[in-house]
Amino acid sequence: VLCVQVALRIRPLREAEVEEGAALSARRVGDQRVTLMDPSEDPDDILRANRSREKTFLFDMVFDHTATQEEVYVSTTKSLIEGVISGYNATIFAYGPTGTGKTYTMLGTDSEPGIYVRALDDLFKGLGASAEEMDYTVSMSYLEIYNEVIRDLLNPSSGFLDLREDSRGRIQIAGITEVSTTNAQEIMELLMKGNKQRTQEPTAANRVSSRSHAVLQVTVTQKSRRKETSEEMWIGKLFMVDLAGSERAAQTQNRGKRMKEGAHINRSLLALGNCINALSEKGGSRTQFVNFRDSKLTRLLKDSLGGNSRTVMIAHISPASSSFEESRMTLIYAYRAKNIKTQV
Ligand code: ADP
Ligand code: MG
Repeated sequence: VLCVQVALRIRPLREAEVEEGAALSARRVGDQRVTLMDPSEDPDDILRANRSREKTFLFDMVFDHTATQEEVYVSTTKSLIEGVISGYNATIFAYGPTGTGKTYTMLGTDSEPGIYVRALDDLFKGLGASAEEMDYTVSMSYLEIYNEVIRDLLNPSSGFLDLREDSRGRIQIAGITEVSTTNAQEIMELLMKGNKQRTQEPTAANRVSSRSHAVLQVTVTQKSRRKETSEEMWIGKLFMVDLAGSERAAQTQNRGKRMKEGAHINRSLLALGNCINALSEKGGSRTQFVNFRDSKLTRLLKDSLGGNSRTVMIAHISPASSSFEESRMTLIYAYRAKNIKTQV
């Protein structure tokens, strides 16, 4: 039985935040601790003044502005890749409000590539090492869930795609582009281009708000070369998910169309939260009902969340005092995810 690993990444303070007079509210203390300081001061509240305005949260790993992309990858994801090669599933989530560094962690930049490319690199290296004994194929697809609708980020003109369950209960996306290149440079270009296709629209609170979930799905199929007669195959799936911004619709003062979209975003995020709650309560047994069918995201990730997977969540926050409330909500959500146990 394995618990979901939960890491926290605190991004650097931004110039705009400094200019707006924000102070540092979140601080990393050692490898596993973060303190969050409530910036609000109320001199009339005597009870409160005597109470600590500082809260401490404990995670499996905490990174701050000094952490490199390599460091974050090595301590959160690298060890999962071996498992995928042995036929296990693995899922990595980037969680947090818009603008806190989710896409930076997962996709990164050309000079500072993120988890997607680093994980694929290690996967190809590992598979290459066993190539004498095993025949393998790797296929990759990159999709968006926006408004509870699935779009192919590698071929956006293909319209809305259907999520289907085959007779064995395996989830498939009809008509999605499957890429099988092993060239890291080529993959990065595809993902960068795909990421630009994500639905991003301005709201009152953010210049650009990510209201879509992006999912990079990697399937590894292996077959022994030795046993010519055997049809035995290993299938390992790796999901790397850049979640939609977790800020609540109420906070962004969304109206009309935005509000509805907010509600839909919340459906997938909410369903994920509900599954996480149910999974963390049942403590590894599969008896309690977990409603994966509530949203596209949880349906897609059913096998991964339902137990047969190693799961890592990387929560993201801004250290700025102006983001205190969002950071607090993020830390509470992420802390709850620590109690999920999965059976690999
Ligand atoms: P999100 O995907 O959560 O909305 P982004 O990944 O787009 O947020 O990050 C917002 C901005 O902050 C981007 O310009 C990004 O390059 C920058 N940023 C985020 N995290 C870091 C980091 N750890 N180091 C340097 N820049 C970062
Ligand atoms: Mg993003």
